[in-house]
Amino acid sequence: MVTWGLWQTSSKPNLSTYLIPLCQERINLKSNGFGVMLNTGVGQCKAILVLAIVDLMAKAPLLGVAYHNGNYGCSSCEEPEQVVNSGKGTARSYPPKVKYELRDTTEFLHTANKVVTTRTEELGIRTLSPLLSLEFFDIVNGVVPDYMHGILLGITKNLITLWTKSKYYKCGYYIGTKVKILERGLQDMMPNDYVQRMPRKFQHSWKASEYQEWLLYFALPCLDGILQTQYYEHFSMIVSAIYKLLSDTISEADLICAERELKEFYMQMPALYGFEQCGLNVHNAGAHLCSYVRMWGPLWAWSCFSYEDMSGNVLSRVHDTGNVSIQALKMLPMQKILRTTYLSMPNIRLRSFVAEMLRSSQMPRKLTKLIRHLRTRLFHVPKTTFR
Ligand SMILES: [Zn+2]
Repeated sequence: MVTWGLWQTSSKPNLSTYLIPLCQERINLKSNGFGVMLNTGVGQCKAILVLAIVDLMAKAPLLGVAYHNGNYGCSSCEEPEQVVNSGKGTARSYPPKVKYELRDTTEFLHTANKVVTTRTEELGIRTLSPLLSLEFFDIVNGVVPDYMHGILLGITKNLITLWTKSKYYKCGYYIGTKVKILERGLQDMMPNDYVQRMPRKFQHSWKASEYQEWLLYFALPCLDGILQTQYYEHFSMIVSAIYKLLSDTISEADLICAERELKEFYMQMPALYGFEQCGLNVHNAGAHLCSYVRMWGPLWAWSCFSYEDMSGNVLSRVHDTGNVSIQALKMLPMQKILRTTYLSMPNIRLRSFVAEMLRSSQMPRKLTKLIRHLRTRLFHVPKTTFR
């Protein structure tokens, strides 16, 4: 993974400032390419952008379209949102349908060109995105709905809230009085080693990976006999579908089955939870997710997980007060040098130490300590003078 840029500000970035040079570089990479050292000499590589993934908040400015809570907020189809009653107020909803009018890439480009002149939003398109300047990049099919934010931090987290929050105590799906039984079941789980951490209580703020483990492994055994049958069976459809879509290889039969399950999950949502729960995450899952899997492969191959990990990694390079961007960027070449040179270190103990450090998620902090330690040993300089 390559870190192309870093934005440090107290407010949201202006995406054009970031995107225009990014797109210019992509055009250069596609036209002129870059040299790579091969055994046979210098080779020439060219690169094109085929896929982009961001969360819903970043998607709107990235594509130049309406935000997910605005009208025509879906970037895959031209379905208008509906305002529905929700408690004492209203909510924006995408009620399920049998068929959706999918967006067309050429039409998208024409409409974006038109709205720049007319300055009137059309079908949710507000402006011309710099991404449209990229040849080979399909702005409709190349920007995927994110599984991590949409399914895990979206639908899965929201369902737990609906089941357990006291304001829903009158609803058939409410199991807030049985949370202790549920959590006891969760604590008694003895997962295999592919589960990274033991499940924590619902009160904790779960990470996306914990919602994933809950969805795939813990939820159905824990909820059996606790959640009413109709809600349990409804929930089991999304569990089954997502499990299939996360497989290393997905057969056409599995894909068709997952598509049917997600569509049915979406269709039953209004009757079981109300139209107000049919937000864009549910719409994307029920109407579009399988199409993107068919185009781009399993969910794990293009989810935000690896990018969020990378963001965490960049953040962990910051070890001091002051300019955090400079600190993060200084650490990057140091890590790269270590990765490419540690195998040739003559000292075996140091080599194995560095190898272990490079495997560790705490690598940046350990690297800072190592550099300070080595400098102190070599140059006898007090630790506090190093930056
Ligand atoms: Zn849609």
